[in-house]
Amino acid sequence: MWWAGVGWRGGDVEVAAVDAAGAQTVPATGFAGRDLPALIGLLHGVVARSAERLAVVLDSSTGLVDGHLLAAGLTVYRADPPLLPGRPPDASVPAADLARRGAANPAALHRLTVSSGALAGREDDYLDAIARSATVERELTGAGRYLARGSGTAPEIALTFDDGPHPGFTPQVLDILARYQVPATFFCVGINVAGYPELVRQVADAGHLVGNHTWSHPYLPDLGRDEVLRQVDATAAALRTAGLSTTLVRPPYGARTPEALTWFAELGLTTVLWDVDTGDWSVPGTAAILDEAATATAGSVILMHDAGGDRTQTVEALPRILEDLLSQGYRFVTVDRFVA
Ligand code: ZN
Repeated sequence: MWWAGVGWRGGDVEVAAVDAAGAQTVPATGFAGRDLPALIGLLHGVVARSAERLAVVLDSSTGLVDGHLLAAGLTVYRADPPLLPGRPPDASVPAADLARRGAANPAALHRLTVSSGALAGREDDYLDAIARSATVERELTGAGRYLARGSGTAPEIALTFDDGPHPGFTPQVLDILARYQVPATFFCVGINVAGYPELVRQVADAGHLVGNHTWSHPYLPDLGRDEVLRQVDATAAALRTAGLSTTLVRPPYGARTPEALTWFAELGLTTVLWDVDTGDWSVPGTAAILDEAATATAGSVILMHDAGGDRTQTVEALPRILEDLLSQGYRFVTVDRFVA
């Protein structure tokens, strides 16, 4: 087995690989946010050249590539802090370290699949952090600094699309929304914003709202205050370069802590969750996505994705979701309409 590490450093996604003995076979190589196909091509090249199986290792601060690597047929694992050295500022654990740690201690890794998502093996930790956040959520709701749904006093629904922009899927989503003249909110990942500023502009120019979904899509409970704020600030800076600004932030996976919610509120940001998860991130089939979307009611915030993996099913389901909810008399609004 050969091992590849995939991480991020500034605006680049970084890859490095070692052989079974831990000897470097691919030196650390950075790819700009828009060059993910080239990174996947490099990994496929390693597989072809080595005639060995290849496992990719990433850490919990890198959540923007795993779905795309899995969709490309690669084997992906996550390594967690006890196994890892510390992270440098503005970077994940270096890709070469991830590869070597994977090779040295494969039993300590968590295998990721499309249906388990990036938090495989950490579900209890995730649910515990959410449970601890309930009191702060109630306090912040009244101050307009937290929402998971609108009041429901009007027949309005907010559609949200996370993890983009993506050059393949985002334009397809925009075409469908334009066909039905429906506005939506896009929570964008900073590395992707920096990679595709023209796509983010296209989203905004079409009348949609753009929100902040952090820089590298990390699991926020693993990060300290400075790291969390850098994730949000770097994304805000990339949005400013594209001529945009936002006060809306959505934590990756909806993984919040009382502390992170408070830090965001202190910055004047409103944390936006959802009440209807279509589950499209797990690629469950178009029918399952439609079933979940059909549970929306007045004030619902619906979670979908225009990137982060193969979103063919999302694109397939979207016209039916819009037709069903429009035929029931609902109007679609951008999610800022629900802020208290
Ligand atoms: Zn996300």
